[in-house]
Amino acid sequence: MSKRQMLQFVSTAKEMPQKRDADSRAHDFDEIYAEFAAEKAAEQASRCSQCGVPYCQTHCPLHNNIPDWLRLTAEGRLQEAYELSQATNTFPEICGRICPQDRLCEGNCVIEQSGHGTVTIGAVEKYITDTAWENGWVPAIAPAAERPESVGIIGAGPGGLAAADVLRRAGVQVTVYDRHDRAGGLLTYGIPGFKLEKDVVMRRVAQLEQGGVEFVLNCNVGVDISFDAIRGKHDAVLIATGVYRSRGMQAPGVGAAGIVRAIDYLTASNRVGFGDSVAEYDSGELNANGKRVVVIGGGDTAMDCVRTAIRQGAQSVKCLYRRDRANMPGSQREVQNAEEEGVEFVWLTAPRGFAGEPVEGVMVQRMRLGQPDATGRQSPEVIEGADYVEPADLVVMALGFEPEDLPTLWGEAALEVTRWGTIKADFRSHETSLPGVFAVGDIVRGASLVVWAIRDGREAADSILTYLNQPAQVAAE
Ligand SMILES: Cc1cc2nc3c(=O)[nH]c(=O)nc-3n(C[C@H](O)[C@H](O)[C@H](O)COP(=O)(O)OP(=O)(O)OC[C@H]3O[C@@H](n4cnc5c(N)ncnc54)[C@H](O)[C@@H]3O)c2cc1C
Ligand code: SF4
Repeated sequence: MSKRQMLQFVSTAKEMPQKRDADSRAHDFDEIYAEFAAEKAAEQASRCSQCGVPYCQTHCPLHNNIPDWLRLTAEGRLQEAYELSQATNTFPEICGRICPQDRLCEGNCVIEQSGHGTVTIGAVEKYITDTAWENGWVPAIAPAAERPESVGIIGAGPGGLAAADVLRRAGVQVTVYDRHDRAGGLLTYGIPGFKLEKDVVMRRVAQLEQGGVEFVLNCNVGVDISFDAIRGKHDAVLIATGVYRSRGMQAPGVGAAGIVRAIDYLTASNRVGFGDSVAEYDSGELNANGKRVVVIGGGDTAMDCVRTAIRQGAQSVKCLYRRDRANMPGSQREVQNAEEEGVEFVWLTAPRGFAGEPVEGVMVQRMRLGQPDATGRQSPEVIEGADYVEPADLVVMALGFEPEDLPTLWGEAALEVTRWGTIKADFRSHETSLPGVFAVGDIVRGASLVVWAIRDGREAADSILTYLNQPAQVAAE
């Protein structure tokens, strides 16, 4: 069996438990490798030199106490390790799976710096939290006392959910609104299931629901309910809506059938993973099976698209990026994974246009790196006369995301935004220009990372609690 055939087989097999029973905790692969994971986790944890200069901790956005939970893991004290890890991270098993550790904790491990290979911090974090769930060590959300105040959270991604967790534990009445039919934001419909199993996300959503968080799904704020109405219903509001406007390009043939947006492609694939019936997938519009696929872009979303296309059984998968390997924004680890799976990267190339209706090929221009721009990064320049056509049946545009124009969509001109359209919020308190309205995650930072959204959500929840504890201020609104 080739590596690609194996991936397609594994991908199908990994989805089976979700299809059989969405709530099922059965996970064939984890069960098979459970013993291996225990040995491996302890072995890795014991490699930590307890160096005393925990750069790993400093470079983790949540400042997780990594050296201490590694030591506890090495000593076999897994429940204590879990409790320490959960104290600073709302979703450790999710970060352990999908943080770009090579750019954060692991990239700054002293052992890695000395050339001996990092301690696999993310894998250990995942392992101890998965073990905690299996052993019933993860306590239910049970506030010591109920509070009368309510908070409305718009957006059920990691930023909104992390805030919901902190607020609910403090006894606040929390309602989370989301326009999707499932909570989780990009954890659910963006990041592919082969990187983050969906039952892991749904387990956290269920924990919040069982702890008293109310979810109002299929509710598009600004369409199904006004922002003003949400403000009127709650004592404070948190905006955690992420960034969803796909960057496009102006080029001949760009509207042809067969040219699709990355978010639509990945959402369809994730829905299929849940067992949903997706018309655009069944019709082939958002399905790479048997096709020559070209993905345009060099970020992590592009990496997810190429790796998804391989698993869907594409005939070939190529990724066009206008700079070279060293200058791409996506994780090098992801590039290596994609290459091993059969993806071909065509560096220093950019589309000039698209041929055919439906699409038959990408008109590609070759690039070289020129003089550094104001940021010091070399700008790509076109090499004239070197164009060629890259045959394609499916083109996925993964050029990044921008914020929607919330002040206009929500009819709230007083909600201040930056010149990039992201919401202006105080760096520490996360309060916006509207009193009692806070904002976190990608809608403030621009496209970022799950771990930063979690940090923002936790911090904003603390600020909201401080805000709610000032009765005169709340009454005055
Ligand atoms: C394909 C892809 C792969 C990624 N992979 C990784 C990765 O491996 N590791 C990593 O750390 N980060 C990754 N990221 C980035 C990460 O997913 C985001 O930074 C993170 O999810 C942001 O969290 P958030 O809570 O701000 O927003 P989101 O997760 O985007 O959630 C926002 C929620 O708000 C809802 N919403 C929006 N507008 C409205 C409205 N008007 N009314 C109601 N609901 C609304 C949306 O439906 C959504 O559920 C990836 C991003 C993408 C696109
Ligand atoms: S949260 Fe992310 S950066 Fe922090 S320790 Fe875990 S994997 Fe590393």
